[in-house]
Amino acid sequence: MISFQLTPEQQALKEMVAKYVQGEVLPVAAKYDESSEFPHEVIHKAWEIGIMNIAVPQKFGGLGLGVLDDVIINEELGAGCLGIGTSIAVNTLGLYPILLFGTDEQIQRLVGPFLEKPLLASFCLTEPGAGSDAASLTTTAKDMGDHYLLNGSKMWITNAGHASLYSVFCTTDKALKGKGICCLAVDAKSPGITLGRHENKLGQRASDTRAITFENVKVPKENLIGKVGEGFKVALKTLDRTRASIAASAVGAARAALQHSIRYSKERKQFNQPISQFQAIQFMLADMATKVEAGRALCYRAGSLIDEGFDEDGNLASAHAKRFSADMAMEVATDAVQIFGGYGYTKDYPVEKIMRDVKLVQIYEGTSQIQRVVIARNILKD
Ligand SMILES: Cc1cc2nc3c(=O)[nH]c(=O)nc-3n(C[C@H](O)[C@H](O)[C@H](O)COP(=O)(O)OP(=O)(O)OC[C@H]3O[C@@H](n4cnc5c(N)ncnc54)[C@H](O)[C@@H]3O)c2cc1C
Repeated sequence: MISFQLTPEQQALKEMVAKYVQGEVLPVAAKYDESSEFPHEVIHKAWEIGIMNIAVPQKFGGLGLGVLDDVIINEELGAGCLGIGTSIAVNTLGLYPILLFGTDEQIQRLVGPFLEKPLLASFCLTEPGAGSDAASLTTTAKDMGDHYLLNGSKMWITNAGHASLYSVFCTTDKALKGKGICCLAVDAKSPGITLGRHENKLGQRASDTRAITFENVKVPKENLIGKVGEGFKVALKTLDRTRASIAASAVGAARAALQHSIRYSKERKQFNQPISQFQAIQFMLADMATKVEAGRALCYRAGSLIDEGFDEDGNLASAHAKRFSADMAMEVATDAVQIFGGYGYTKDYPVEKIMRDVKLVQIYEGTSQIQRVVIARNILKD
């Protein structure tokens, strides 16, 4: 028997995040979209209510919540503002390498401070020349005995300008490609780090995205996460745990676009009747609703499988969830703009922002094409 009901705890979590979104995110979402400033106060509030570091195990003082809990949180955040939601979600992404592969001492020393005050982490994998083909990264870590010397550039790093800790993927031997990669936890204040400009993006403008350059940055050996050569596995295992949540944020954004469309279609009159009376509009709304339901079901399934320890099935389910939900949200948001007609094309109504914001979910954390590559490889294997 499969249950699709949330537990009382999960329901309470969903309601708590929805209340936070209603009170703290929605009132300022348009402002931060317009200014592209970093929403410090909104993020601090998220930390106060405990949704910033949810994956930290209880034995280290965290909540020890699972992927399905993160899915629930991210659907609600996505329904409020994807840019603000991404800033929160990427913190989890930045800490997961340490939580999954770090020693107890590393978790206490590096992640512990995130429970004491509202700090942020970044996940630094992508480079100017290594996007979808992340294993071809060229940032180098040279073994200097008691420390590594880090050199290279990262691109499109979320939270880069505000993070105190970077999980950086680099190579000790470029010739080994994926097998030479390691993961280093890097103090953002280390000498030799230069941040690029805050990128002027189409959407998710409340999130901070920058390039980072490392020039002879000294990283103590005790900040090596996992083993040398294990870094690519660290990156993939991390992304396996966050993909369903990112997909859920798109489900939330699509849900918001649908809700705005339902409300507007009942208010807007043409030909002496609300446009919701036209079957063409009704069918668009019906299709949008089915798509949102399907996206959520895929995300719940992926999150549940990973939480229950079915990693392989969970990873495939996460690729399905990410591919479908990102593409679905783009379709639903585009339909929402259509239902709003000319008004939908202006910043006076919220649906154009959702359309701009969801586009990014088709690109980051593995593009929709790369998710298809993963799915195809899986279904075609002997
Ligand atoms: C706003 C923003 C925030 C981001 N945040 C982070 C972050 O915090 N940390 C981080 O490490 N990265 C981050 N990224 C990087 C993101 O994950 C990459 O942009 C993404 O993986 C794609 O890489 P690329 O942009 O280099 O595109 P490319 O890899 O150059 O791809 C270009 C096009 O080719 C397609 N393509 C590539 N390879 C294949 C293939 N084998 N088969 C079919 N099609 C293919 C892609 O799907 C895409 O359509 C962020 C990106 C953006 C835009």
